[in-house]
Formats: sequence, C-alpha cells, structure tokens
Amino acid sequence: MGKALLTNSRLGSARACQRLHRIKYALGYRPKQEAETLRFGTLIHKGEEAWWRAAEGERLRDALAAMAAEESDPFDLMRAQVMLTGYDIRWGPAMEHYEVLGVETEFRTELRNPETGRPSQTWELGGKIDVLVRDLRDGLVYVVEHKSSAEDISQGSEYWRRLRMDGQVSVYFEGGRSLGYEIAGCIYDVLGKPGQKPLKATPLEDRKYTKTSPPRLYANQREADETPEEYRERVAEAVQADPERYFQRGMVARLETEMGEALFDVWQLGQQIREAELAGRAPRNPDACVRWGRTCEFFDVCTGVASLDDPSLFRKSERIHPELSEGPKEAAQQ
Ligand code: SF4
Repeated sequence: MGKALLTNSRLGSARACQRLHRIKYALGYRPKQEAETLRFGTLIHKGEEAWWRAAEGERLRDALAAMAAEESDPFDLMRAQVMLTGYDIRWGPAMEHYEVLGVETEFRTELRNPETGRPSQTWELGGKIDVLVRDLRDGLVYVVEHKSSAEDISQGSEYWRRLRMDGQVSVYFEGGRSLGYEIAGCIYDVLGKPGQKPLKATPLEDRKYTKTSPPRLYANQREADETPEEYRERVAEAVQADPERYFQRGMVARLETEMGEALFDVWQLGQQIREAELAGRAPRNPDACVRWGRTCEFFDVCTGVASLDDPSLFRKSERIHPELSEGPKEAAQQ
C-alpha cells in the first residue's frame, strides 16, 4: 500500500482536533448534509473554477452555467451570480496579464524530514492547487488561492494579517515545485460574501397601514416574501455601491526560512497523527468545537447525542480525500 496523503484539509483538521481528524481521515465519515456556509462556498468555488478554465469572452457565461448546474438554494444561486458577475467586472481586464497554466491541478510529492532531508515512510504531501498562472509581465509563476469570507476583507484587516501566517501557502509552494514550477508567490483571491438575507412578508398580525386613502402598508413592511430575482437586485445594488468590500486580492510570498519552518510544522503534525494512530487514541479538543461561528459537524457525536452509524446524519466516504481524483485510494478503517 502507498503512503498516506497529508493535504491542507487534513492538516487543518488535525491541527484543530485529533478526534476530528480521526473521524474524517481515519474512519472516513462525512456529514450527510454539508453546512449551509460550506455549500455556498462550494457553489462559489465551482463558479470560479469555470471562470478560470474558460476562454476569453466566455468566462462569465461559463461561470454562471457551472453554478446553475449545481443543486442549490435559489437565493444562494442569485447571491453567487451577483458575486461572479462582480468578479468578472473587477478581474476580467487583468487577465490580459496572465497565462493560465492549470486549474484545480492535483499534486503528490515527498514529505521530507526538514533536518535530514530523507523522505517520510508514512506520508506524502498532496492536494489541489486552485490555479497556476504565469504573469506575462515578468514571466514569474504564481499560485492563485480562492477564498470567500463573510468577514471584513478590506486591505489591512485582521483577515489579511491572519492569512499571511497561513500554513497552506507553503504546501502549495511545494506542490507547485513538484509540478516543475518555481513559485514566486501566492495570489490570494478573496470574495466577500454579501450578508443580505431574503426578506419575508410581514406577519398579518404585525402589519401597520398609513391613514392615507387608500391605506398603504408601512414602508418597512412587506406584503409578500422577496422573490429570488428581487433579492438578486438588492444584493447587486449593495455590491455595486462598494465593490472594494467584496473583491480583494493580495500577494503572499514565502522566504526560504519561512518555508522551512512551515514544512517543519507539517512534519511534526504528521508525526503526531501517526503517534495518535499507533496509540489508538485521538483526544478531543473542546476549544475547536465552535470555530468561525460554525459548530463542528460531529458535535452531536462527541456529546453523545448522535451516532456515526446513523445513515441519516453521516456517510462513510469510500475515499479519504473525496476532493482528489488521482492516486491510489486510501481506505478508511473498518
Ligand atoms: S465536536 Fe469538538 S471534540 Fe468533537 S470532533 Fe469536533 S472539534 Fe473535536
């Protein structure tokens, strides 16, 4: 059997909570239903993938078609359409500077002991790079990493300061190198998620009318639920009024010393995962149960309310890394 894969997602789970890592990457369980915020992120990602794959002049059309082909909530789709339309207006003109070398490019490469340089007998580094581009102005090659966030993404915000410490970038640099490119930097391509919720009709008992003739409903009340099309118009107005709030890009470079440190972190984490597996123990980390305003999808299991064996809540994935298509299957433990 080949070596096991360490991907950024796997490393993120292990860093957060060893129990979470065990459930997802040793046992292979995933929630039956993705959390709403993850579903929306996936929808946006599909749109961005199609946008970067498309030929000049067809980007927006392909992005909208790719998102429409996904099963999604109609209001989410409208919001995603507004975001990709704004993205096309904001970044489409910059595409004259880039040659796209690859989209969703998978890689596998040795994980080396940073002290001895010897390859790990247990792990390989692997993953998928959102986009690889060559900047035609200087010939340098960059990794493009898509993100979407409901946080403040304006330049100088906490979001950007945190991203500059993001260990994922170093793994992508290694991935890019394994594909034969010297990576000059990572372009973080961040989309701000519009926070508007669809408006509901005012309940009958709360409705108030003016004393005019004929009486009219108060301006802040509604006769009917907002339609998806009305919602799209409202979100589009907000995005057009403040595009800087929704579309940001920033460059992250990595010094050799930073790369070394990041890969040492990866190596150490790999060791810890292996030790936990050998010991048959995976400690819980209650500090990680609620992160980024979202509760861990296995919270009910850890608190004894639900079982991983409940097929209405969880499915056992055949692949440990369902996001990757290549390479041998890494089987889940029985
Ligand atoms: S609920 Fe908490 S303890 Fe359980 S796997 Fe998730 S993060 Fe870990």
